[in-house]
Amino acid sequence: MVSITNATKYFGNECVLHHLNLQISSIEIVGLAGSSGSGKSTLLRCIQGLEVLDEGVIKRPDHTGFMFQDFQLFPHMTVWENILYAPLREKKPQCTENAQELLHSLEIFSQKHIYPQRLSGGQKQRVALARALMMDPQLLLCDEPTSGLDRGNIRSVVQILKRVHEKGVILLIASHDLDFLCNLCHRILMMRYGKIILDVSPQQEGFREEHLYEFYQK
Ligand code: ADP
Ligand code: MG
Repeated sequence: MVSITNATKYFGNECVLHHLNLQISSIEIVGLAGSSGSGKSTLLRCIQGLEVLDEGVIKRPDHTGFMFQDFQLFPHMTVWENILYAPLREKKPQCTENAQELLHSLEIFSQKHIYPQRLSGGQKQRVALARALMMDPQLLLCDEPTSGLDRGNIRSVVQILKRVHEKGVILLIASHDLDFLCNLCHRILMMRYGKIILDVSPQQEGFREEHLYEFYQK
């Protein structure tokens, strides 16, 4: 479903992805951990095709959604216009019905005529998610979905993303927040210097979150 072989990416002389390999072969929630600068965002951007690899091959589903760390909502469009912009352009059938349903399920329906600058961080997050889900992705890439959110909002992001997974979507989530990833993910990959140095399941016997921190700090 997702297959990455020998992914290598340079920015200038800096090797940001280093012969990286990754297979995701079932519908699971995969966390991408690692300290700042380890290459998480670059890997997500390469998967989405926002950056081009210098070497290697990435195979991923045709329908892939991307949730940006800073949301990247269109400031001059309302919530409703933001989420319908791409599907209307592609003449996606049923898109206004789907938009209504999504806004209801994410509890932001009453904000539909509001412009992004008047939304809270948690609400912007939900709009960004609704916009990504409008294209019916088989794979959803999320970059730091908890950044700037308080505890209550983080808890609801966990619930929302679990529901997205239950609908059959593969999630790949970059986050520096190990607690969040341990609560959400079936599998956690730890990145360092553009490589995956650990691939574990928080549900497996003997798993300890502290173990992740040991790797995180090295
Ligand atoms: P993370 O998301 O894990 O914090 P990034 O993928 O953002 O890591 O960055 C990995 C490395 O690549 C960092 O050293 C960063 O400075 C560098 N980098 C990322 N994007 C660019 C870019 N567009 N131009 C130059 N360097 C970049
Ligand atoms: Mg990042």
